[in-house]
Amino acid sequence: MDLGLHGKTALVCAGSKGLGRACAFSLVREGVNVVIVARGAQALESTAAELRQLGSGRVEVVVADITTPEGRERALQHCPQPDVLINNAGGPPAGDFRDFSADTWQAALNANMLTPIEMIKVVLDGMMERRFGRIINITSSAVKAPIDILALSNGARSGLTGFVAGLSRKTIGKNVTINNLLPGLFETDTMRSRSVSMAQAAGKDFDEVHQQRLLPIPAGRFGDPSEFGDACAYLCSAQAGYITGMNFLIDGGAYPGTF
Ligand code: NAP
Repeated sequence: MDLGLHGKTALVCAGSKGLGRACAFSLVREGVNVVIVARGAQALESTAAELRQLGSGRVEVVVADITTPEGRERALQHCPQPDVLINNAGGPPAGDFRDFSADTWQAALNANMLTPIEMIKVVLDGMMERRFGRIINITSSAVKAPIDILALSNGARSGLTGFVAGLSRKTIGKNVTINNLLPGLFETDTMRSRSVSMAQAAGKDFDEVHQQRLLPIPAGRFGDPSEFGDACAYLCSAQAGYITGMNFLIDGGAYPGTF
């Protein structure tokens, strides 16, 4: 299926590794020009080199911390009028909420709620004037089924989700949709490093803990980031213009409910 994205431009935040990188791959395969943003230049350049092998579109990198005003400004200077915006950043740490200071909460709210809102604020009106826009926020399955030790993520991402639910109904009339993609467990650096910390905390070995994390997943495996990237590309497609304000969970069946 041709997703109708050829020649469009996407700004992919936190796009050098993992899920953001996978979104960039799927978009480039559809002929999209991409600007990928991350803090580390080396991983960005190596991802960009792979992306350039894939398609004919333009691939640019911006070294920036997307959670800072300066970083956002730099990203938007390189890509002032994106047709597609993928909001993403590192997730907050796990832990007991009793140990979190107000500053810890501010950092989580900034990275996982306020940063995407700031990005949306800058690009939205241009998208509406041009009558095309697709905004995807990478959130977490923890929005749908909160995880006790991920209080910072549960809180910050639910705030973003509530905001998007209201805004997205105001923009679809101009062909600008805003949706959230909720990953369950996908094989990425972040997910593996969480298995490392869980193993250290439990005094167990990595493989044992990593395998135990599979038990609640009916699919019997972790997600492949490319599966996530392709879902992202679909939600960005011309065909997905009637979908907005939705929370699309991709978790191998782990969430046991109907809705
Ligand atoms: P990952 O593989 O570790 O990749 C993270 C990417 O984000 C890297 O490109 C990293 O590059 C970039 N990044 C992090 N902080 C940044 C910042 N402040 N500014 C710009 N770029 C930044 O992680 P992932 O698994 O794809 O996770 C992506 C998001 O999904 C996270 O919020 C994570 O919590 C959430 N999530 C993931 C899973 C999963 O199973 N993988 C499940 C639920 C939720 P630099 O470090 O070089 O900046």
